[in-house]
Amino acid sequence: MHTVTLIRGDGVGPELSAATLAVIEATGVKIHWEEVVAGEEALQRFGTPLPQEAIDSIRKNGVALKGPITTPVGSGFRSVNVALRKELDLYANLRPAKNYPGIRTPFGEIDLVVVRENTEDLYAGVEHMVGEDAAESIKIITRPACERIVRFAFEYAVKNRRRKVTAVHKANIMKLTDGLFLETARQIAQEYPQVEFEDRIVDNMAMQLVQKPQLYDVLVMPNLYGDIISDLCAGLVGGLGVAPGANLGREAALFEPVHGSAPKYAGQNRVNPTAMILSAVMMLRHIGEAEAAERVEAALSAVLEEGKEVTYDLGGSAGTMEMAQAIVRRLKQQ
Ligand code: NAD
Repeated sequence: MHTVTLIRGDGVGPELSAATLAVIEATGVKIHWEEVVAGEEALQRFGTPLPQEAIDSIRKNGVALKGPITTPVGSGFRSVNVALRKELDLYANLRPAKNYPGIRTPFGEIDLVVVRENTEDLYAGVEHMVGEDAAESIKIITRPACERIVRFAFEYAVKNRRRKVTAVHKANIMKLTDGLFLETARQIAQEYPQVEFEDRIVDNMAMQLVQKPQLYDVLVMPNLYGDIISDLCAGLVGGLGVAPGANLGREAALFEPVHGSAPKYAGQNRVNPTAMILSAVMMLRHIGEAEAAERVEAALSAVLEEGKEVTYDLGGSAGTMEMAQAIVRRLKQQ
């Protein structure tokens, strides 16, 4: 029996969580879900969007599955997602982008992995006003954070038999911050002669990913570029509805879809459960249930390929739970 922390999340989070739990249950893997709240519900009930209990639970169990959590723009509470990554030092954000049969896109075969640094850079949101009419945001890049994320990318490449790591940066303009990232990446690359290494400037990378995505494999980059490029990669394989993610650190691992809480669809049973189910597939592999992970992926692939019981974003008319139930049926037939 595994114990995993569960945060259902805001907006479409609860319906996606219910769909995902139904699929995991059908694998027969025994998981005790230790449920904690974070986000809007926690704010209402406990006066804080991120209760200590949630952090403690993830720390204790070492693994969590999470739905998306709303972050109000401009004001309100700081991002729970960012806070969790910081509190638990989940320094690596792993976002695979792979196409599945049945999801038609103009980009052909895609098999990319974005490794995003998760703790610093402009995304840390260290900002202040300078007088009334100017605002300043501080971009912090440190050598230890660069070293561990680049090493993570190479280790991932070696373990998963990937051929190349590309470091993405803007060191031509941000010579000190991105310069440090690039210099560190070049140094770490020398420790892995069996993996090809190259670097790309982020704007050129964005264009190349649209025009020639097959040239790339594992991409490693600072936090903000990772945020943007991983959404671009999600777009290459069918959109946010199908893009899973993992936040990994030394003491814990938190699995969640790349997308947010899509508030306009909340409670409508409409959005695609694939991203959260694939995040759970990554979680199953992480806890040593690789065989169950393969089975879920196969059942999901079959449902996607058939294309009859898929959600609106994939051209279908199934609801979130109906698509999950179609996957459950396939699992039971296997
Ligand atoms: P979003 O990802 O929630 O939604 C953008 C659009 O993408 C949706 O309107 C919808 O068209 C599509 N989409 C997203 N998920 C989908 C799914 N499962 N199936 C089908 N279509 C889907 O982005 P947003 O509107 O910019 O953000 C909403 C809230 O989510 C914000 O408060 C934001 O801060 C938060 N957010 C949270 C996380 C997280 O919890 N890790 C990540 C990103 C955004």
